[in-house]
Amino acid sequence: MLPKELERIIQLTKTHHKWRRTESLNLIASENVMSPLAEAVYGTDLMSRYAEGRPYKRYYQGTKYVDEIETLTMELMNRITSSKYCDVRPISGTIANAAVFRVLAQPGDEATIAPVQAGAHVSHTKFGTLGALGIKQVELPYDRERMNVDVDGARKVIERVRPKFAVLGGSLYLFPHPTREIAEIAHSVGARLVYDAAHVYGLIVGGVWRNPLEEGADFITASTHKTFPGPQGGAIFTNDESAYKPVSHNIFPWFLSNHHLHRLPSTAVTALEMMEFGGEYASQVVKNAKALASALVAQGFKVVGENQGYTTSHQVAVDVSKQGGGAKCAKVLEEANIIVNKNLLPDDPPERVSDPSGLRLGVQEMTRYGMNESDMQEIAVLFRKLLIDGQDVSDIRRKVLEMRSSFQTVKYTFPLEKDIVPTILALG
Ligand SMILES: *Cc1c(COP(=O)(O)O)cnc(C)c1O
Repeated sequence: MLPKELERIIQLTKTHHKWRRTESLNLIASENVMSPLAEAVYGTDLMSRYAEGRPYKRYYQGTKYVDEIETLTMELMNRITSSKYCDVRPISGTIANAAVFRVLAQPGDEATIAPVQAGAHVSHTKFGTLGALGIKQVELPYDRERMNVDVDGARKVIERVRPKFAVLGGSLYLFPHPTREIAEIAHSVGARLVYDAAHVYGLIVGGVWRNPLEEGADFITASTHKTFPGPQGGAIFTNDESAYKPVSHNIFPWFLSNHHLHRLPSTAVTALEMMEFGGEYASQVVKNAKALASALVAQGFKVVGENQGYTTSHQVAVDVSKQGGGAKCAKVLEEANIIVNKNLLPDDPPERVSDPSGLRLGVQEMTRYGMNESDMQEIAVLFRKLLIDGQDVSDIRRKVLEMRSSFQTVKYTFPLEKDIVPTILALG
């Protein structure tokens, strides 16, 4: 007899897959779906192998094809990022940050970060990776009006502190940080600028978000699975060979040994698809975010960032304090198969982290399934019916199922040619 837990784990996996892939509206801003082709090349023997070190300089045998796959993946990622050097080994954006931070600063050194209200990620802070590395966090001042880094204040802080590096880029990230200005100030005191593009990397590649390297950043760190619709992973980019070398030499063994090789072909496929379709995809993402923001306002919601047109990214931040707060609203939405996350808004005190006043929405995944501005209107109506009118959750869930049934195929992709796909099943 097979163990009953076996049946349960298989059933749970299938149910989760069906729910999140076919029955719900996913508006989590940090998630996406890969193309069928990128997914097909994910499930191969590479998932079981090691290739410690860098291509052609490995500590393991059996890597001759991995070397070429990794080299080609780096070449493609450099091409779409307009960068000279990259490392695709970080297994997540946090690991990418850790590797760069640790090379740029020693324990006890200082780094300036964007204000938490302007979206700084936990890995930039004393509570996360920066703190774990023993690097001291100095927060730059906040410009409340523009929901951004206060550049004049930042100049004073950076000139006084003379940090080893500055970090920009964020998690609740509606409007671009002043990269050119902070790069110039950081460089004037000999500091490097790290731009964490975890959320917006796909928008940069798609040409709708300024490329931080072109604005003076020394490094881009990224996740490869948020607006960039690849496998879960991280990447590091730079144009500066002297900055690249120590990161590339130290990431193994400092921050990983196995770099999860099966990500590499999927990352390469995604890069090629972004070359072909990335412009169209990214501009639809931003159009959809703007459309969702305006539609939510029209339905009676308070959307953050009004004085700047609500958003320039894939995200929308909604203040739902009048509708019972972020925790409650996110839960009600989930019952109706609309998946979002509760989020601290810039004016929330940090203690409100488990019951913040906001919701963070991201439209990138639904855009991949082919939704456009009129679908955003429809989503906003569902939000109103559920959170303002208090309509029955099961009615709204039925409407979500009906709506989602016309969006089942991922767009902006190459076709999946069954006979060329080396999935584990096809290989036998
Ligand atoms: C999501 C995120 C990260 C972490 O990325 P992981 O790939 O989840 O490790 C880092 N920085 C920012 C700004 C993020 O939003």
